[in-house]
Amino acid sequence: MTICYCSPCASARGLKSGIDLSDPLGSPGQLAKLTRHTSTSGSSRDPVRTKFDSTDTALYVQRIEATIVYGFVELTGGRKNIGFVPSTGSALGRKYVWGVETWPQPDALLAVNTSRSTGLHMFLENSSKYSGPRCAGCGGSLW
Ligand SMILES: [Zn+2]
Repeated sequence: MTICYCSPCASARGLKSGIDLSDPLGSPGQLAKLTRHTSTSGSSRDPVRTKFDSTDTALYVQRIEATIVYGFVELTGGRKNIGFVPSTGSALGRKYVWGVETWPQPDALLAVNTSRSTGLHMFLENSSKYSGPRCAGCGGSLW
């Protein structure tokens, strides 16, 4: 079961506090995820792979920080993801399914493993995935 909160409701409930942003690329796993999500092409062996439009690590870290500050929260089982749509329809990169690029291009950022300082990382998503669910706090839209 998935429960979502808009950014103000998530903040009011403390759902975005305590997230360690001191070194978002500090672990081998995080660096591997960055490499994976900035590689030059989709892989035909992957069900889904997203690729950021920039390999700039400083920009990647900035996007993580912005996502935590401005994003909505998605609670699924024991996991807490934070999503952020900077600008609807503005592509942030590409998305491949079994190596084939899909459309529309992803316009949302999704930070996952937010409860583990060495596991926090980010990939791209389509904002349309989050246009249906409403905030469990106020009933409003998530973004
Ligand atoms: Zn709300």
